Amino acid sequence: MNVLVINAGSSSLKYQLVNVEQHRLLAKGICERVGSAESFHKHGLDENEVVIDAKMADHDDAMALVLESLVEGPAKAIDSLDQIDAVGHRIVQGGKYFDRSVLIDDDVIAKIDELAELAPLHNKAALMGIHACLKHMPGVPMVAVFDTSFFQTLPPKAYMYPLPYELYEKYAIRKYGAHGTSHRYISERAAAVLDEPLEDLKLITCHLGNGCSISAIDHGVAVDTSMGLTPLDGLMMGTRCGAIDPAIVPFVMEHENLTPAEVNDLMNKKSGLLGISGISNDLRSVRDASEAGNERAQLAYDMYSNSVKKYIGSYIAVMGGVDAIVLTAGVGENCEKMRRMIFAGLQPLGIILDEEKNRQRGFEREISAESSQVKIIIIPTNEEYMIARDTFEILHEGTDAALA
Ligand code: ADP
Repeated sequence: MNVLVINAGSSSLKYQLVNVEQHRLLAKGICERVGSAESFHKHGLDENEVVIDAKMADHDDAMALVLESLVEGPAKAIDSLDQIDAVGHRIVQGGKYFDRSVLIDDDVIAKIDELAELAPLHNKAALMGIHACLKHMPGVPMVAVFDTSFFQTLPPKAYMYPLPYELYEKYAIRKYGAHGTSHRYISERAAAVLDEPLEDLKLITCHLGNGCSISAIDHGVAVDTSMGLTPLDGLMMGTRCGAIDPAIVPFVMEHENLTPAEVNDLMNKKSGLLGISGISNDLRSVRDASEAGNERAQLAYDMYSNSVKKYIGSYIAVMGGVDAIVLTAGVGENCEKMRRMIFAGLQPLGIILDEEKNRQRGFEREISAESSQVKIIIIPTNEEYMIARDTFEILHEGTDAALA
């Protein structure tokens, strides 16, 4: 079964065509700056990738280009659109309605629209992607996969904020989490690497990319996660501040004369590694500058690792122990220095990094020392495959079809 995975952002449309049974990527690409005069389209696998200047006024135009490049041109992947059996859409906010992936119908579309209040840019973009598919591929079944659904298992003591209860009742203000598809994928793969049932394990999963989040997964069930009502909460990130004293927000608004939208922008786009270092949101640049003696870059680096360390400690306490800590995304998978700093000093908790394994490159692997009670595992995330797999499973519900 070939599934087209769509991840629509406010000005971008990322996609992958995946053959689910063969676990094979057939094509991928991204339409960027959709809606602007500088829009362009990258399509194809690695060496076959082509970059096309293409005018895309909206997601509808972008979708038409995507479909065209799947069946025509130098990097075509299939002979005809009939070879796309289904579409899986990534949706950021599923609110209280969706604790799992679902087949898209009018009711699901209406609920995604209603939830746009909680994730304005993201859910509206996803709807544009859904409508574009409905127009260009009528009759092809579509599935919605939500970033939040994995965290619908959180208990109220973890998802409620200690604010007046009426705010929860009126506006559904609570923790929803994000990156759920990634945390679900890496927890399943970690259990496979450990060769133990997920239901027997206490895991802490760390998605450390530009956006960062950490989850506590107790016997296969998510019990806490660092992102909150929005993906701004929790860890220090590339440009996001993560958790800060909430009193800072009105203070800065008053003294800097900022509107709610401006202070939101400051916390989402000008903070984190970028805000502290003044150099970049990219950890590689911050690392290089800190090694060259830049003190603010060094501070940013130290704050980032400390922020991860604090969550690891608190989730060990939440679960009463941990069997394995799982790392993924750009920083988690690639940055040996950051991993060394995160795990430094955790020996008393039974967490010992193997320096040599930490330096080696590879795919899924353990990097903890033989003597470490807690395993440390790297799992490259694959949210697109998870979306394709959910789509396959929903469309085969009630049949004997199963994936290896
Ligand atoms: P996104 O959230 O945009 O998908 P990624 O998962 O690609 O982010 O992660 C981006 C981050 O990973 C950047 O901060 C980048 O510096 C960092 N990163 C990527 N490769 C390396 C590397 N080899 N060493 C250190 N950091 C890296």
